[in-house]
Amino acid sequence: MDKLILIEEIKRLKKEKNAVVLAHHYQVEEVKEVADIIGDSLELSRKATEVQEQTIVLSGVHFMAESVKILSPNKKVLLPVKDAGCPMADMIDEEKLEAFKARHPTGKVVCYVNTSAEVKAKSDICCTSSNALKVVNSLGEDPVLFIPDQNLGNYVKKYSGNKNVIPYNGYCITHHRARKEDALKAKAKHPEGLLLAHPECQEEVLEEADFIGSTTAIINYAENSENQTFIIGTEMGVVESLKKQLPNKTFYLLAQSFICSNMKKTRLEDVYRALKKDTYEIQIDEQTLQEAKSTLVNMLAL
Ligand code: SF4
Repeated sequence: MDKLILIEEIKRLKKEKNAVVLAHHYQVEEVKEVADIIGDSLELSRKATEVQEQTIVLSGVHFMAESVKILSPNKKVLLPVKDAGCPMADMIDEEKLEAFKARHPTGKVVCYVNTSAEVKAKSDICCTSSNALKVVNSLGEDPVLFIPDQNLGNYVKKYSGNKNVIPYNGYCITHHRARKEDALKAKAKHPEGLLLAHPECQEEVLEEADFIGSTTAIINYAENSENQTFIIGTEMGVVESLKKQLPNKTFYLLAQSFICSNMKKTRLEDVYRALKKDTYEIQIDEQTLQEAKSTLVNMLAL
């Protein structure tokens, strides 16, 4: 189908099905163009609770659609591409978490939002990259088992008041690829640019950054900074969002490897099919949903 016709069909189906499309910043541009709301994972699940529509099409990866379902259990939540997953979230499951807990029986489990509903259900509190420090600081001096991202875990260990943080050994395959040399090369090429990096990057990259923050924090920083040029150390979709939002500023991607292939799986055709055929509906059993919800609610209460 022609792109313009597809866009019109998506608009028509949204009305007909009483549906709303939410898209993560890492999605391809054509999908972001038909989205009603664009945000990072926390923003999307929060805003999903405020929309009136009964059906939510979440253009992102599986754990994000699950988070939306957990916080809006009475809505129909659709993920347009069934196998759009997050390799980092897949690095830990219930069994691996139980083994990790058994090795550190007094630890409290802080799970990054990039985890499955089952893993969230077995954790104490959830966190995102924007509130991870706050969440860990709220737990006092207790040992913290931080899952699954070792880089965010190490960042939290370094900057929170709790030195007893034990990071799991997972990582984001997109952010973990960037190395110190990439940062040095980009800074040498664009000496006027400030390096804004996501805490899923390795410590050696974060040490070179002028600012470390979540997707939303990076966007806000670029917007409010008097600087005109930025090197962005996170997924390339954020650079695209920034170029659109701040056309008078200049943005460079830290390294060409910053592309999440799972996030790029969703196309306009998939959004169209999701709306037309109600694919693929997120289902979570009631007990898991309630247990996972309490970890998210504990976080939101902060
Ligand atoms: S960018 Fe990394 S953390 Fe985000 S969905 Fe892709 S693999 Fe997962």
